[in-house]
Amino acid sequence: MTGQRVLVTGAGGFIGHHLVHYLKERGYWVRGVDLKLPEFGVTAADEFEQLDLREKVNCLRATRDVDQVYALAADMGGMGFISKYHAEILHNNLLISTLTLDAARENRVPRFLYTSSACVYPEYKQLTTDVAPLKEEDAYPADPQDAYGWEKLTTERLCQHYSEEYDIETRIVRFHNIFGPLGTWEGGREKAPAAMCRKIAHAKLTGDPRVEIWGDGKQTRSFCHVTDCVEGIHRLMGSDFSEPLNLGQDRLISINDLADIVAGIAGLEIERVHVAGPQGVRGRNSDNTRLRQVLDWEPQLSLEDGLAETYRWIEGQVAERLGWESLENAELSVAQAAS
Ligand code: NAD
Repeated sequence: MTGQRVLVTGAGGFIGHHLVHYLKERGYWVRGVDLKLPEFGVTAADEFEQLDLREKVNCLRATRDVDQVYALAADMGGMGFISKYHAEILHNNLLISTLTLDAARENRVPRFLYTSSACVYPEYKQLTTDVAPLKEEDAYPADPQDAYGWEKLTTERLCQHYSEEYDIETRIVRFHNIFGPLGTWEGGREKAPAAMCRKIAHAKLTGDPRVEIWGDGKQTRSFCHVTDCVEGIHRLMGSDFSEPLNLGQDRLISINDLADIVAGIAGLEIERVHVAGPQGVRGRNSDNTRLRQVLDWEPQLSLEDGLAETYRWIEGQVAERLGWESLENAELSVAQAAS
């Protein structure tokens, strides 16, 4: 047992929910805070408070009597979301991040980990599909992606200045496309791997092989499984490294190839249909040189194994949804026939 008391903000969200489980298994006492309870499972937190972290009073309450804060709360989603709602994202995330960090300082929390993003990297370094992997120092001169990326870069600086000028140690992680089960898979906030699993599960279960892909599908990314993500941030929290650090896989693949891998897992021949849609930067990959140096570790799970697990979970969700729909339709036709 570590006996340490930890706050996870965003504990009702995808990574936060997994992180709470991970920390509980390692003997931490955990308080989870979020606007909402986890959608796809029961939290393992010792205490879970539904609080809006855009209010300072709530941030003070959330950060009381803890040794560490993992700050994951954010108004966030995939490309479809972050390329559209700039004002809402910048407003909400600046408030959440600034007020949570300042409340942690006031409550004398010794250590604070901020979850930044690969969206801090300048768009001018990500113009081709065979892009060079992004090193941490590539973030400057700054030209982040969307308002979402500007908030992440600004809060990185805030964390660094707080640790220089106040009595709080900060850690900064830049995630590169985290995926896995128990994450948002529909509704507009889902990210590419979850959306692809949903579309292919739908194709399989309905017998319609057409799968929509935004753009030409040649845009590239790297994808990291959530079990590696939570392991990485726990290691970073325990390290003495206070500069920003990438956390992701460094295997670059196109969205078309991602679709083929998921289709292979589903055992389905798909017909790709390319449609207009937000694609983000043309290519993005993580340079893990510093990650390996600092943590003496790097993500372990292969994309194929991670996607197989994620696909199985999402196929189950889609099957349940289609089952409800057909049940509702059947009930409707029975009711109509009876009337
Ligand atoms: P998520 O959307 O599943 O979780 C974020 C949680 O924050 C949600 O449960 C949401 O309800 C909560 N939240 C939003 N506004 C809040 C408020 N005002 N008060 C309290 N809680 C609030 O996202 P995630 O994928 O788990 O991401 C966690 C963190 O990692 C976020 O900061 C995100 O920006 C960052 N990140 C994630 C990825 C990724 O690929 N998933 C990539 C880069 C960075």
